Amino acid sequence: MQKYLDVHHIEELVRRNSYDLDPDTLHQSRCICGNYENKVDLPALSIPGGDLGEIAIALSSAYSFGFELSIKGFQDNLKDVIGHKDILRSINDSGHDPYLCPYLRAVIKYPSQYGFDIEAAEQFNEFIRDSGISKDRLINEPFKRKNEEALIILQGSKGIFPRYIFETDYGRWESSVLIYHKTLVNARHKALSKKLIENKSVKLYKDLNEEYLYEVISEMTDIHLFETLQHIDSVLPIYDITILDDDNPEIKKLQ
Ligand SMILES: [Zn+2]
Repeated sequence: MQKYLDVHHIEELVRRNSYDLDPDTLHQSRCICGNYENKVDLPALSIPGGDLGEIAIALSSAYSFGFELSIKGFQDNLKDVIGHKDILRSINDSGHDPYLCPYLRAVIKYPSQYGFDIEAAEQFNEFIRDSGISKDRLINEPFKRKNEEALIILQGSKGIFPRYIFETDYGRWESSVLIYHKTLVNARHKALSKKLIENKSVKLYKDLNEEYLYEVISEMTDIHLFETLQHIDSVLPIYDITILDDDNPEIKKLQ
C-alpha cells in the first residue's frame, strides 16, 4: 500500500536528514528521485535526471521557445559550470539505477509531454544510447519504483538525504522522498545562462538576453518536474521547505 508522509514525518525527516552544503561542489547534481544511498558526498543540487536531465531540459527549451542551441556548446558550458567532465556521474553513481528512475522512464516514453519535437527527442535518445542505458528497457520493462512518499521543494542553504527510516511503536519502515533543490538549481541556471550567452552557444531573437534564457530554462525545468510527478502519483504530497542558517525549517504543504 502506498504510504504518504504527513507534516510530522516531514519535520522529523528534514531535521534528521539535512546536511551542510559543500561550497566546492555546489554545482554538482543528482536526480530528484529517492533512488540514491545517503552518502556523505551526495550532491545537494537535485534536478530531474541530474546532468542528463539538464541536457533534456535544454533541448526541449530550444524547441519549445524557438531558439537555436549548439548541443556541443551546451555540454562544454555545463561541464565548465559543474567543474568536472563526467556529466553521467549524476545518474550512474551513488546507487542511482536509471531503470528505477521515474524521470528517465517518463521522458523517454512520453517525449511530447516534455516539450520535445521528434528531432529533439532523437537527439536526447542519442545521449541515452551513448550513456549505455537501454531505451527499450526504459520503455518496456515493468516499472518498479522506489516508492517515494512525498516531494520536497527545497530552498535555502542545506541539502537533504533522500532515504529515512522511521521507528514507531509498530515497527520500522523505510521511506524515501523526491527532492527538488530550487535554490541550487536556480543558481546553476543563472551561471549556465550567462555562459551560454557569453560563448554564443545559443542564438536568441534580437534583444533577448541571458535573463530571458534563464526564465525559459526555469519554466521548462518546472514542466519536467511536474510532468514527472503526474507519472509517479498525481496526488503525492508536496512540501515547500526553506532552511536558512538558523536551522529552523519552514514547512508549507502545497498539496
Ligand atoms: Zn532519477
